[in-house]
Amino acid sequence: MAIWNLGSVNADLVYRVRHMPTPGETLSAYDHQKGLGGKGANMSVACHRAGSHVEHIGAVGEDGTWMKDRLATYGVKVGHLANLPGPSGQAVILLDDAGENEIIILDGANRDITEAMVDAALSRAKPGDTAIFQNETSVQDHFARAARAAGLRLAYAAAPFEAAAVAAVMEHLDILVMNAVEAEQLEAALGQPPEALPIADVVITLGGEGCRWINTATGTVRTFAAPKVTPVDTTGAGDTFTGYLIAGLDQGLAMEAALEMAQKAGALMVTRLGTADVIPTRDEL
Ligand code: ATP
Repeated sequence: MAIWNLGSVNADLVYRVRHMPTPGETLSAYDHQKGLGGKGANMSVACHRAGSHVEHIGAVGEDGTWMKDRLATYGVKVGHLANLPGPSGQAVILLDDAGENEIIILDGANRDITEAMVDAALSRAKPGDTAIFQNETSVQDHFARAARAAGLRLAYAAAPFEAAAVAAVMEHLDILVMNAVEAEQLEAALGQPPEALPIADVVITLGGEGCRWINTATGTVRTFAAPKVTPVDTTGAGDTFTGYLIAGLDQGLAMEAALEMAQKAGALMVTRLGTADVIPTRDEL
């Protein structure tokens, strides 16, 4: 089957610093890298490296042709990734020696995706395909409704977190993936725990502690421990995890097996510096 990913594409501008700058402080970075990133691009690459066919729906700006080319080189289908006027999305990422990160995002072309672009892409989808999206693009509500109407399985990574964005698409979702902080924020905003959401499967990632799977139909809650690794850079761990999880399900794995594969990929990812470019392949797991 195919995975249709409405997602952001960003130039990741990574600066390594000894410590995070305090307000008013000017700090020299001791290393710099420019890479392909954005939650959407990361998830597309993760889905492909996990062995699935991925169609990326999105947009880059005038300065973004290299990112479109790189996604294509990586095997992601870019026929529905538009070139638009104006700047591409970008992320300025500060990474300190403790492995912590601070990130500033410019949305750029990611916020100029139109409903017509989504409709043109999804008109090619087949029932049984999977649609995924995150929170860094425009037209998410339209995408959720259109994917549902097309008979696709719909998964959503609620990051960066906005309670209103989750509430707007909740009724259409089959799978919701959040990290622990996002899950707490959602519970506080909606006044109900994940078990009470109208979504068949809710997955909460717990960083080095692993992940929790809530199947709301049966009321089952299961926690899975993560492989033990020494983290170098946690950027992209969640995207890698989600991409592998959705690819596993797309390829017919049961939830437990897909979660186990996603955890291996997430754990390996935190041992690497960088984002989309260094997402592990399935052979490397
Ligand atoms: P990020 O925003 O940094 O990409 P996130 O907050 O969305 O990540 P996490 O919960 O930190 O997501 O991590 C996602 C998954 O990656 C975890 O469920 C786990 O499988 C794996 N992972 C993350 N950190 C570690 C770690 N320190 N050791 C082992 N596995 C990890």
